[in-house]
This record gives sequence, structure tokens and C-alpha cells, in this order.
Amino acid sequence: MTPPTDPNCLFCKIIAKQIPSTIRYESDHVFAFDDIHPKAPTHVLICPKAHHPTFLETPADVLTTLNGEVQAIAKQLGFADRGFRLVINNGRESGQEVFHLHYHFLAGKPLGGF
Ligand code: 5GP
Ligand code: ZN
Repeated sequence: MTPPTDPNCLFCKIIAKQIPSTIRYESDHVFAFDDIHPKAPTHVLICPKAHHPTFLETPADVLTTLNGEVQAIAKQLGFADRGFRLVINNGRESGQEVFHLHYHFLAGKPLGGF
């Protein structure tokens, strides 16, 4: 089955390489690239290639695949032993601006408390 895409979605365009990004990881199902406005020395956005607007709308099997690859990405980026933070914004009140599921992977400095 062809995965869902949205021709008007910024991250679908980035994943399709119609808009350039600094790619950090790519597989059949997952795409990761540097955030354009980094909040930490390492700030990578990790997305399923399939378009799902929010965390709550994403099928569980997609999340399972994504989580496994997030573990691989954390190791590949060199943070397995250093620590990192994952953030998911779900919905407008959380601050979500791009409605294509993504994890913010933040690392590279002490991140402090909330
Ligand atoms: P959200 O607020 O939806 O959780 O996060 C969206 C993120 O996408 C923000 O951190 C923002 O800096 C990032 N972003 C927005 N536009 C672009 C872009 O064109 N390229 C890249 N690489 N990141 C973007
Ligand atoms: Zn999309």
C-alpha cells in the first residue's frame, strides 16, 4: 500500500527532497533532519515518511517502527551514553506547528528541567 502523503505538507516536501534539509538519517520508513531553528547543539526532527498529522492519529505499528529507529538514530548520533530528550508536540496548544508527526531529538548540552 502506498503510504499517505500530503502535497501541501512541509515535511512531506522535505522527505521527498523537494525542499532541501540537512539529512541525518534515512530508511524506508523514517527520515531525520536538522531543525532549522535548533534549540540545542543537536536538534534533529525524526519523522515517519508516511504523513500522519499528529501523534494521536498515528497508527501503533508506525509508532513501533519509528521508536525502533529512534533508538538506532540515538546511537548513530553518538548519544547512547550521553543522554538526550525526545519531545512530541500534539496539537495546537502544545505548540505543534507542522502537522506531520515528528519527534524532536535534543541533545549536546545539559537540558535542564521543565
Ligand atoms: P513543532 O512546533 O511542529 O513541534 O515543530 C516544528 C519544527 O519544525 C520547529 O522546531 C521548526 O523550527 C522546524 N521547521 C519549520 N520549518 C522548517 C523547515 O523549513 N526546515 C527545517 N529543517 N525545519 C523547519
Ligand atoms: Zn506530511
